Amino acid sequence: MNDTLLSLGFYTLVLGVPLLVYLRKLRNRDRRAQEAVEKGKLYSEGPKAQHPQIDTMRCIGCQSCTEVCPEGDVLAMLGGKAVIVNGHKCIGHSLCADVCPVGAITMAMAGPSMGADMPYLTAEYETNVPNLFIAGELGGLALIKNAIHQGRQCIDTLVARLADQDRAPGVHDVVIIGAGPAGISASLRAIEAGLDYLTLERDEIGGTVAKYPRQKLVMTSPVEFPMYGKFKKRELSKEDLLAFWNQVLQRADFKVRTGERVDHLERRDDGIFHIATSQGQHHARAVVLALGRGGEPRKLGVKGEQLPKVMYRLIEADHYVNRKILVVGGGDSAIEAAMGLGRQQGNQVTLSYRKESFSRIKERNAQRIQEDIHSGKVRVLFNSSPVEIREDSVILDVQGESQELPNDYVWIFAGGTPPTAFLKKIGISFGMQDITLEASREARQAT
Ligand SMILES: Cc1cc2nc3c(=O)[nH]c(=O)nc-3n(C[C@H](O)[C@H](O)[C@H](O)COP(=O)(O)OP(=O)(O)OC[C@H]3O[C@@H](n4cnc5c(N)ncnc54)[C@H](O)[C@@H]3O)c2cc1C
Repeated sequence: MNDTLLSLGFYTLVLGVPLLVYLRKLRNRDRRAQEAVEKGKLYSEGPKAQHPQIDTMRCIGCQSCTEVCPEGDVLAMLGGKAVIVNGHKCIGHSLCADVCPVGAITMAMAGPSMGADMPYLTAEYETNVPNLFIAGELGGLALIKNAIHQGRQCIDTLVARLADQDRAPGVHDVVIIGAGPAGISASLRAIEAGLDYLTLERDEIGGTVAKYPRQKLVMTSPVEFPMYGKFKKRELSKEDLLAFWNQVLQRADFKVRTGERVDHLERRDDGIFHIATSQGQHHARAVVLALGRGGEPRKLGVKGEQLPKVMYRLIEADHYVNRKILVVGGGDSAIEAAMGLGRQQGNQVTLSYRKESFSRIKERNAQRIQEDIHSGKVRVLFNSSPVEIREDSVILDVQGESQELPNDYVWIFAGGTPPTAFLKKIGISFGMQDITLEASREARQAT
């Protein structure tokens, strides 16, 4: 009898405890999903560019998609089905589509109204101007892996197209503009394919990646990298990623003209592109625009903004200690900068944001900034904006009242102005895209 009771107790323990843990986990997941749905209702915004499309007839409600998204709450479960609650947060990881066991998710670009500020592109990343391609974030799809894939794809399309055309003296096969991940990938593929290429970069090799804060952890996915093969790392520091690219570029004898900005380009009647830069003129049979969407940092237009203590990018937070600092903005970059600076010895950091709360930031940042506010590392002034920046202070309008704060440095993160005017000037149409992102699914399957 005792033995029977003992075995019963044993089995209850062995089977019952994991079952309880599992049920609790499910309940927590539901609660988190419900919270996400409610939050989504509060500030739900439609997708800006790429986003998942869910076939609700196929969805089995397994929650794999909601769990896997690195951006947090793009998707949530409602009535046992996955739904989009924060479409604007999707930046195209596509992991939800990858993990869905029943293939209920495909990635799509936003519709014509939502994608109105995106250039029109064919499935080969060609614009309405023949032989003028766009690769990388400029086309509306973020992430390094997408930039690398698209840079490679543009050149593959070109190789097939240019093969039976005659070369002309002084005319490159292709001019690649921008040396971020998309431009690097396009250039390496051009070298691999034996094209006469020219890469122009107004700044430095690496694009946006070179401007990440020091030691930033870069998340990426396995991707086929030209002149190297499959790059399998998923996480590495910015410095290690740049070192890897430099190594491959050196081995490939990559030639780039850095410090040369492209100001205008035009496809003439003979099909040749004339490219005007800050240094001169170039000619090409095809062009790949890999400009990114960073553009120029947006200025506030307040008095004193031209002072040298005002900056728009933070790379080395630990270079600033024992300082009085104002960070302006309410996006992820502003919050990350404020937290980075707030953690340095002796800094007094104030974050000024014109709205009454943060609304479009990553979940991770939303949690961490609350911790930093509570521990006094960062002070946040909502409903506030700078009115004037002086040598040793700043004047803020805080809910209609003027406040003067002692200040050594100001960082402004008001976004960038994407190169829309440049694209329009060179004749690129905007609006609905032909890319259904099936191309990117194919790429994932191929890599
Ligand atoms: C803070 C931050 C963190 C991020 N973290 C990640 C991450 O962890 N993982 C990830 O996958 N993605 C991340 N991203 C996104 C990723 O960096 C971008 O999607 C990617 O860099 C886009 O590559 P690109 O080549 O299209 O453009 P960019 O990297 O922006 O490069 C464009 C290049 O074009 C040059 N250029 C622009 N105009 C001209 C001109 N007129 N003439 C000549 N050259 C010009 C620019 O100087 C620049 O070098 C992050 C982005 C930011 C801002």
